[in-house]
Amino acid sequence: MALPEQLCLHCGLCCNGTLFRDVELQPGDDVAKLRALGLPLRSRRGLEADSLKFPQPCSALCSDLKCRVYADRPSRCREFECALFKAAVAGKTELPAALKTIRQTRQMAEKVRGLLRELGDAGEGVALAKRFKSLKRKFDAGELPDRLDAETAYDRFAELSLAVHELDMRLRAKFHPDPNDR
Ligand code: SF4
Repeated sequence: MALPEQLCLHCGLCCNGTLFRDVELQPGDDVAKLRALGLPLRSRRGLEADSLKFPQPCSALCSDLKCRVYADRPSRCREFECALFKAAVAGKTELPAALKTIRQTRQMAEKVRGLLRELGDAGEGVALAKRFKSLKRKFDAGELPDRLDAETAYDRFAELSLAVHELDMRLRAKFHPDPNDR
């Protein structure tokens, strides 16, 4: 099995809203075809290809972590290789170690999702960073979830903040160093 299948089909972090909030189209991407394939393209500034983007988690990501539009995927998707993939290609990381990193990071992301759910955020179709930001805004405004008493809510939120921080550090260290690109 080729390396992309061995790693990427166990991962999905660059498509499932863990690593990125959205994907911007680039000049040369076939907008009409991507629309026809069902990618929910949104306009940023105008209607040019380079002003369109689609949100993560990606609607084309299948439950087996394959891309439904793989043959026609946009150029950003085609060109992106995470740091872990590059390290594996360069022989700097052995495959079992890379798979362990993926497994652990997916568990870290799952912990964040679980805490978000517990705190009343049901936005499973929204990128993790956006979900956390929106929940933080509510906490900052004193809007606590109805289902929890205040002490539990603040405890869980502290746990969530730490889990988000740890996940972010892990993503920077192992997958994509530049947080501004996320
Ligand atoms: S189009 Fe395919 S490769 Fe690109 S983000 Fe969606 S699932 Fe991932």
